[in-house]
Amino acid sequence: MKPAPFRYVAARALDEALQLKAAHGEEARFLAGGQSLVPTMNFRLSQPALLIDINPLTELAGMRKCGLDRVRIGALTRYRELERDPAVAPILPLVDEALPHIAHPQIRNRTTIGGNLAHADPASEMPAIILALGGRLRAQSVKGERWIAAADFFTGALSTALEPDEMLVEVELPTAPSRSGACFMEMARRHGDFALVGVACMLRLDEDGRCGEARIGLCNAGDTPMFAAQASQSLVGGKLGAAEIGTAAALVQRDIDPPGNIHASKEFQRHLAGVLTARALAAANERARRAH
Ligand SMILES: Cc1cc2nc3c(=O)[nH]c(=O)nc-3n(C[C@H](O)[C@H](O)[C@H](O)COP(=O)(O)OP(=O)(O)OC[C@H]3O[C@@H](n4cnc5c(N)ncnc54)[C@H](O)[C@@H]3O)c2cc1C
Repeated sequence: MKPAPFRYVAARALDEALQLKAAHGEEARFLAGGQSLVPTMNFRLSQPALLIDINPLTELAGMRKCGLDRVRIGALTRYRELERDPAVAPILPLVDEALPHIAHPQIRNRTTIGGNLAHADPASEMPAIILALGGRLRAQSVKGERWIAAADFFTGALSTALEPDEMLVEVELPTAPSRSGACFMEMARRHGDFALVGVACMLRLDEDGRCGEARIGLCNAGDTPMFAAQASQSLVGGKLGAAEIGTAAALVQRDIDPPGNIHASKEFQRHLAGVLTARALAAANERARRAH
């Protein structure tokens, strides 16, 4: 398979990349890891007239602390880099647990967090995690910059709130608070395949062991990555046992609208979402109870 003809420019500076995008809008695409963009071009599912290669913009790569309880990850940070960074697990346990499920090591060598989030595949793991953590994303254009809450970023299958002239430049995530526990679980036919369904959850307990905060994100459960608002809210305020977790899992099953595909019917995906939610919440609760 060969892509349709296109122009290629390796951006030498962020400003140059943004100027080019402003001038060419939808006709131009940023090239990050290329692991989603290039296959779609080869299948002629996308035919951008111009590729703006942002790989030379190394200032967009890397993770840094931001105050006491937040961390910022540059859009060009590769998943393999995060996977190998020992600083990630203690502060972003949910990200750390999910990374090995995303594709294969060779693909994670190239995949960037910015490209993965901008691609907005409803079956992707990281969008569900960003939703479960309540992160936010910084978009930049020649006109300036703005922060977009994760809840507002994913607008449909493979579509986001980014304007045609905007680049996603970084992601901000809260670090794990004390007395919190997180868990990511997915079911895939083979390791590295896209998930049939995946669940990312985060729980924070109060001093008396009651649930102070709960957030559940799901992948491949609808036409966008999903935040399970009612299921999350149902957990807050009580001690978490089998009954509370079962109620939340049932609310997830009620509220999702899985797409179904040749590997899993809608009904099977709904069933899986309930089972995985219950298991992930039980694991996160146990981790939170053990955390200081
Ligand atoms: C065999 C295989 C298995 C895979 N399995 C999984 C999986 O299990 N889970 C999963 O989540 N993904 C999976 N992927 C997808 C992979 O992780 C992609 O790399 C990822 O979705 C896109 O990241 P990228 O950096 O390669 O972006 P690219 O492919 O370069 O770009 C993707 C899209 O985002 C745009 N873009 C890139 N960077 C930016 C930016 N900073 N701002 C604005 N727009 C931008 C591009 O213009 C393009 O439209 C798989 C891919 C393959 C080939």
